[in-house]
Amino acid sequence: THEFNTKLYKGKVSFKAGLFINGEWVDPVDGGDMIDVVNPATGKVITAIPGGGAKDVDIAVKAARKAFKTTWGLKVPGSERGKILNKLAELIEKYGDELAALECLNVGKPFTSTKQLEIPVAVYVSRYFAGWADKIHGKTIETNEKKLAYTRHEPWGVVGAITPWNGPLMIAVVKIAPALATGNTVVLKPSEITPFTALYLADLLNEAGVPPGVVNIINGYGHTVGSAISSHPNVDKITFTGSTLTGRKILKAAAESNLKAVTLELGGKSPTIIFDDVDLEQAIKWAAYGVYYNMGQACVAGSRIYIHEAIYNKFLEGFAKFTEGLTSTTGAPFAEGTQRGPQISKTQFDRVMGYINSGISEGAKVHVGGERFGDEGYFIKPTVFIDAKPSMKIMQEEIFGPVCSIVKFKSEEEVIEWANDTTYGLAANVFTQNSARAIRMSHAIEAGTINVNCSLSMELNVPFGGYKQSGIGRELGQEALDTYTQVKAVHVNL
Ligand code: NAD
Repeated sequence: THEFNTKLYKGKVSFKAGLFINGEWVDPVDGGDMIDVVNPATGKVITAIPGGGAKDVDIAVKAARKAFKTTWGLKVPGSERGKILNKLAELIEKYGDELAALECLNVGKPFTSTKQLEIPVAVYVSRYFAGWADKIHGKTIETNEKKLAYTRHEPWGVVGAITPWNGPLMIAVVKIAPALATGNTVVLKPSEITPFTALYLADLLNEAGVPPGVVNIINGYGHTVGSAISSHPNVDKITFTGSTLTGRKILKAAAESNLKAVTLELGGKSPTIIFDDVDLEQAIKWAAYGVYYNMGQACVAGSRIYIHEAIYNKFLEGFAKFTEGLTSTTGAPFAEGTQRGPQISKTQFDRVMGYINSGISEGAKVHVGGERFGDEGYFIKPTVFIDAKPSMKIMQEEIFGPVCSIVKFKSEEEVIEWANDTTYGLAANVFTQNSARAIRMSHAIEAGTINVNCSLSMELNVPFGGYKQSGIGRELGQEALDTYTQVKAVHVNL
């Protein structure tokens, strides 16, 4: 058991560290790496957590398969699966402070905003899919009078879930809840950088009445545990959130092992487009929220900001002032009033600073920020570039930090072309009072989510996913159910 005194809120928080297989805590039988977990606000190691290996994955997959065949899957009525997921939601809510404290300590997310946003998201998503569990219907299809044809939406079986570090609890629940609602069992690998809340969740799953083996959690590295899951011949489906690079490896491993089904939620390079007919103050706030939320570590971060030439100077002045003001609420994640924390790791810190330097060397100008903040941890000042050209790395690649470029545009046609000039297609934000233009833009932009006069929409009953190299398949909403089931057609000769 790991116990931390967070000195704030409820004080002590504890969770067990090990591999969670078949409803029990076990030691790794393979590899047994002890993986350091670092507090990104200080740069100091908090503790080391055991990670598993390929043999552990195999044991977990066997437990998940057994549970699928005996105590879960279609053996259990949907109403019962829903009841358990509702209980899980209740427990996440009850232990919201503890979960938020662990997320804060491990990820550097501010405690207050984690309680206000991430915890309610996890609770809502569990409840939302609990509600679907007894509403998964096939249909009857008229063929001819001598035949009855109908469809069933059956679970895949064992789902491998691999998650990133930028929303560890939220993203784990976004995968576990629909998988369980539809009758699948799960082997989850959290990011080795941020395993705390997934490990805490394990005991809540037991308390909620999730039968042993239905969810197994194996901490570990991507190249060991992650690749063992994605290449396992007995895993039926993978749901992955992370970088496009890793997504490609997972798709390849899935193809070369057993052609398992794959859902990928990958990176982005989302545009924010602001026309000259908007409420400027509101547009500035939304654009800033859209890129600086979670220190820019959001797949949907609106890091390319296109401003109509008629309001460019005014916008830039207001946005720069707003951005400079953010440093006063950036700091220790547990402190009251903190709204932004550090980048997750030294690697990410160096990566983001590398992008800032590449922007400068390619000829863009730093208008605000551009440097580290504070003298410990991995803090970076929110940064605004101007004079960026479409071909520059800062305009093409996902930075995953608090860095944006502001670019002037003249016409709707021009900005549509620029918005689509990337290999990504996750989200876009469009600001205009002209509703016909808003709709034209929404249809012309190649992205899975379009926000009109807002950014970072977190409506969780709406499907989410990427166009182009931002992903395959959809999470959330009713569409998620389709990705966790396969359709069987039954033809009966009458
Ligand atoms: P990452 O791809 O490095 O890691 C994600 C997960 O994959 C981790 O658990 C990691 O251990 C594992 N992994 C690494 N190599 C693997 C391999 N060869 N086989 C199997 N698993 C492997 O991504 P990250 O740095 O943790 O997260 C940041 C990325 O996630 C960003 O690109 C971001 O855009 C993306 N993201 C996307 C969404 C979305 O919904 N589209 C949401 C959040 C984050």
